[in-house]
Amino acid sequence: SGEAILYRQAQRESAARTYARSLPVVPVRARGMTVEGADGRRYLDCLSGAGTLALGHNHPAVLEAIRRVLDSGAPLHVLDLATPVKDEFTTALFETLPPALADHGRIQFCGPAGTDAVEAAIKLARIATGRAGLLAFSGAYHGMTAAALAATGDTEARAVVESDSRVTRLPYPYDYRCPFGTGGERGAELSARLTASLLDDPKGGVQHPAAMLVEPVQGEGGVIPAPNDWLRRMREITAARGIPLIADEVQTGVGRTGTFWAVERSGIVPDVMVLSKAIGGSLPLAVIVYREELDAWHPGAHAGTFRGNQLAMAAGTATLRFVARHALHERAEAVGSRMLCRLRGLAAHHSCIGDVRGHGLMIGVELVDADAAPDDYGALPAAPRLAARVQQEALRRGLIIELGGRHASVVRLLPPLTITDEQAEAVLDRLADAIEAAGR
Ligand code: PMP
Repeated sequence: SGEAILYRQAQRESAARTYARSLPVVPVRARGMTVEGADGRRYLDCLSGAGTLALGHNHPAVLEAIRRVLDSGAPLHVLDLATPVKDEFTTALFETLPPALADHGRIQFCGPAGTDAVEAAIKLARIATGRAGLLAFSGAYHGMTAAALAATGDTEARAVVESDSRVTRLPYPYDYRCPFGTGGERGAELSARLTASLLDDPKGGVQHPAAMLVEPVQGEGGVIPAPNDWLRRMREITAARGIPLIADEVQTGVGRTGTFWAVERSGIVPDVMVLSKAIGGSLPLAVIVYREELDAWHPGAHAGTFRGNQLAMAAGTATLRFVARHALHERAEAVGSRMLCRLRGLAAHHSCIGDVRGHGLMIGVELVDADAAPDDYGALPAAPRLAARVQQEALRRGLIIELGGRHASVVRLLPPLTITDEQAEAVLDRLADAIEAAGR
């Protein structure tokens, strides 16, 4: 039974397990955005494998692509050898990239997780520039291996690799709750000015970093979209100083934020893009794509046994093509805008909703302590306990949501891009009920 499975897993699995703690669901079947638990209960899934499932669970196009490879007799494991399946994937991916990267870009298969690709991107930039330092941002999340973790904003998670002092952390613009004590437009402006002056200060020690690493929309950090102007400023600042700009699109990619890639919203073209999650169509796949001028590493400089998962490439090709053919990024923008609108209406009636933000179907609802005094900039303290109650109340109502943000007080909605209007309404109905119940 589900109960027994939950019990055994809790006994045997590492104390570091995460989602299984707050989401006691034992999924046995899933289709689209519906997940069925071992107890027969059905849930609407707004976690989507932490933003992985652009087409939801078990999409027919993805299953069909996987079956085709299985039935073809193609080898499943090929290291990084050239194959027709890989050729198709690379072609499909390059068709979606900003032209400047598609026309003059290279791809490095990393694998199999997003973190692996972040490591590769940092390494590539260090090799290509001959420099070591890295610029990263407060609240950032890039993964859990040493270099990726060093770039991550969470000080507690970072402590184990804190000796990697080559990361300079800059303020990420966070309208609602700027960690540097100034919000809104001024936060973005301050962040840009600080970055430029830090890089130009001969005593600052960071004049020549190997790269700047940025999420166009912070995901784990609490769904915080970077303002377009700010991203353009970062592009100008790095370009003017010959610093490669790495965009981590692990979570934002493949239509999630309303454009195929999140960088398109601001029009910037990064030097390196880090891609994973949705590009594998629910199977593990991670790559970096980058300007060919950076391709200065030698053969074998970045290897890995599992860089050639044929099933993941086939599932990824099917996903990329389906999203492109049906313009699901546009659908994400349209449905996401309606959801944001309704959530803002909800915020007007619930003082515990401090902020509603996002792009496309990457939406965050920041829960706050409405009884506390606001800080100097009008932000109320984060309400992690309330958020945890909302998550549990949502689960009771058949809605799977994830929390994020620096204090785990932000409800994150990451439904598949295939979500129907009715499902979007149902998600918001259940979430509204859950907030109501949790606040009582
Ligand atoms: N970068 C970003 C922006 C992410 O959101 C994540 C995962 N949530 C990662 C990197 C790490 O990816 P993975 O968990 O596959 O290693």
